[in-house]
Amino acid sequence: ELILAFESSCDETSVAVVENGDTILSNVIASQINSQKRFGGVVPEVASRHHVEQVTICAEEAMAQADVTYADLTAVAVTYGPGLVGALLIGVSAAKAIAFAHQLPLVPVNHMAGHIYAARLVKPLTYPLLALLVSGGHTEIVYMRAAGEFEIIGDTRDDAAGEAFDKVGRVLNLAYPAGKKIDDLAKQGTDTFNFPRAMIKDDNYDFSFSGLKSAFINTVHNAEQRGEELARADLAASFQASVIDVIVTKTMRAVREYGVNQLVMAGGVAANSGLRARFQQEIAAHTPNVDFVVPPLRLCGDNGAMIGAAAHVFYNQGVRANGQLNAKPGLSFDYMTPERQLELS
Ligand code: ATP
Ligand code: MG
Ligand code: FE
Repeated sequence: ELILAFESSCDETSVAVVENGDTILSNVIASQINSQKRFGGVVPEVASRHHVEQVTICAEEAMAQADVTYADLTAVAVTYGPGLVGALLIGVSAAKAIAFAHQLPLVPVNHMAGHIYAARLVKPLTYPLLALLVSGGHTEIVYMRAAGEFEIIGDTRDDAAGEAFDKVGRVLNLAYPAGKKIDDLAKQGTDTFNFPRAMIKDDNYDFSFSGLKSAFINTVHNAEQRGEELARADLAASFQASVIDVIVTKTMRAVREYGVNQLVMAGGVAANSGLRARFQQEIAAHTPNVDFVVPPLRLCGDNGAMIGAAAHVFYNQGVRANGQLNAKPGLSFDYMTPERQLELS
């Protein structure tokens, strides 16, 4: 089974060929970081234009690298939400055109399900499991009773974890996206500022990062007014320590409560070295029987291969879209079962 998968929800245009949901034959990623950097974030119009320019080139490159022809393909898959509507539409249109031209089934994929299934490219998933989704737009703890079934048990009340990294990075004059740079800076500093750990003790699995962001910004601005310059590495380390503390504490509580034996971490922020190390430590110390699965760095950010991996599951559950498939910018997957996914596509 060979799936050609398209991803264009935000600022990466990516096309991949995935075999049997677990083997990457190609995964071409065209990032727009250089043009979005100038604006300090993703500008939707700029993103759409890039996708238009890149999508055909990426598809041809993905087919060539995988060394397959359209006749070899089983299906075409595409991210149809959540994301920027104009960006999503480019991938959806391209995938529809190829599926139609070659009479291939079209499989609609939720971008966040894609992030989770990036872990399937590492090893088989065993259910029930918990997935921690930490990305530019989401911070969610998802319970999966079975393959393709998603129930959000915790969510952010305001900013997503990645968004907080990027906003704090702007205050430190770090180029967008700042996550990796803060991660690097944090390694040279220590947690001296002791920023708040919002909702860490609350009896739920929700998160809030806007208070942390404000505390950070106030600390920097107050120092500036006193003509003082604070140690950037310590600021980064303190911010990151707060994020990690809250995320790890609440996720580990959910792991124990739900009694799962696998924990998947996914999304761009899953690339964070401090977060990965801390989970490894906590699990080894307290729940050594829990299998912690986290994709390699190149599969944490947006890419087509993760969409192909998720599509394998949905394809085999009979999920199909037709020529009417539209972009769904606000797509969620609360209580999404295969039947429900069929209705929505
Ligand atoms: P979503 O998946 O929610 O739609 P998105 O696709 O824009 O949003 P991703 O591409 O999955 O998000 O992740 C990008 C985010 O990951 C950015 O906010 C970026 O700063 C962050 N990030 C990347 N590397 C690191 C790192 N090492 N530490 C912390 N954050 C990181
Ligand atoms: Mg991105
Ligand atoms: Fe993403």
